[in-house]
Amino acid sequence: MIQLCSIASGSSGNCIYVGNEDTHILIDAGISGKRIKAGLDYIEVDPNKLDGIFITHEHSDHILGLGIMARRYNMPIYITEKTWNKLKTYSSLGKINESLVNFIKPDTLIKIGSIQVMPFKTSHDATDSVCYTFVNDKYKIGIVTDLGNYDDYIIEHLKNSHILYIEANHDIKMLEAGSYPYYLKRRILSDIGHLSNELSTSLIENLIHDDLKYIVLAHLSKENNLPDIAYLEVKYLLDKTKICNNQDIELFVAKRDIHSEAIVLL
Ligand SMILES: [Zn+2]
Ligand SMILES: [Zn+2]
Repeated sequence: MIQLCSIASGSSGNCIYVGNEDTHILIDAGISGKRIKAGLDYIEVDPNKLDGIFITHEHSDHILGLGIMARRYNMPIYITEKTWNKLKTYSSLGKINESLVNFIKPDTLIKIGSIQVMPFKTSHDATDSVCYTFVNDKYKIGIVTDLGNYDDYIIEHLKNSHILYIEANHDIKMLEAGSYPYYLKRRILSDIGHLSNELSTSLIENLIHDDLKYIVLAHLSKENNLPDIAYLEVKYLLDKTKICNNQDIELFVAKRDIHSEAIVLL
């Protein structure tokens, strides 16, 4: 069994749970400790049982609740050394017991309980951003958000996932016509910004396979995207793609301010 639950997703805060009967992992803590606890309550996971929290990068929408969670639950943190060195300069983080910090390296597998975690590099305007895949004896989950573009390296890491959690940040036309200042539009559209619906769809096209069961579109911009636009763009791709076993791939958009439906593969 493996479970994924998006506790919050979007530019106002990100937190994801991945786990099974004996291993419980968070990816990022970009919302308050209270909201993380509420998300964990929904899937009936005791925060004291969390085996660790994996950090993707130091932007505040990914780390806002990290200090609280680490202190309150004595929770191990998995992070790259460069991201940690940057993060420790943030006074908002508060004091964290350094013995809780474990350094991870891109492309180096780490085992947490019965789940294998593989960090991989992403192209983003952060110090040393990574995303992760999670594998147990039967299933693979691929998570990738906060990247301006993708390449064969990203595809190689995400391929054969049974669940894909992928950024669909903005609709290019909405962003271009929207109220963001020019420099911010350029940053978002750049190779170290965020994935548009268009790029997200073409990445997904590279990752469709017969055993892909769920796709979750994530990290949507509040200003520059709409859940229906992102959903329909990928749905159109899925409808025209022939899957051999005739099973539908379920498609969701992760909710922004509240947990999404939990996905469980038995
Ligand atoms: Zn982000
Ligand atoms: Zn970011």
